[in-house]
Amino acid sequence: MEIQCECGKFRARLKAFPNNTPGRLVCYCDDCQSYLHYLKRDDLLDANGGTEIIPAYPAEVEILSGLEHLKCTQLSPNGTFRFSTACCNTPIVNTRPKVPWAGFLRCVYKARDDHQLDQALGPVRSRIMGRYAKGTPPAGTPEKFNLKAFVTVMPFMLKGKLLKKSRPSPFFAEDGVTPIVAPQILNEAQRQALRQ
Ligand SMILES: [Zn+2]
Ligand SMILES: [Zn+2]
Repeated sequence: MEIQCECGKFRARLKAFPNNTPGRLVCYCDDCQSYLHYLKRDDLLDANGGTEIIPAYPAEVEILSGLEHLKCTQLSPNGTFRFSTACCNTPIVNTRPKVPWAGFLRCVYKARDDHQLDQALGPVRSRIMGRYAKGTPPAGTPEKFNLKAFVTVMPFMLKGKLLKKSRPSPFFAEDGVTPIVAPQILNEAQRQALRQ
């Protein structure tokens, strides 16, 4: 599977796809919403403010081109590292060091036919953090997490830990913890403004 930013300058390959992904997940949390507001990419949020993520293991991601276009944002000093592109302002992936999780946003899979992707992955497998959703999210969405979210994601995380799939990550230096581009870290005032 090849993924890319909207303009196509940044491209990467997910070597195992569609194996080793827990499938389509939707997060309604305030951080995910704030981040897309920050990028001024509200257009990528669904009707309830959800962000669709299709994760892969960092060790199975190969960047093919456009590394120089990557930007990194943290909503707080210990926040998730959220990478986007400077070329066309596409949010790409949310990830953390030492965690076997590269959460690619749905939009980077757009090069591929939407229908084909949905056929390969099936429907959304889990939705979380419904307390922050706008309006009423789809039935069954928990306030925070639920058992369904746990059983969807835990096997992926455990297998990733056992097989040491958190590194090498193309988003971190060889030490496994330093992001490849210095993150812009938002301060409290910026964060509050985005939550309005
Ligand atoms: Zn681009
Ligand atoms: Zn979230």
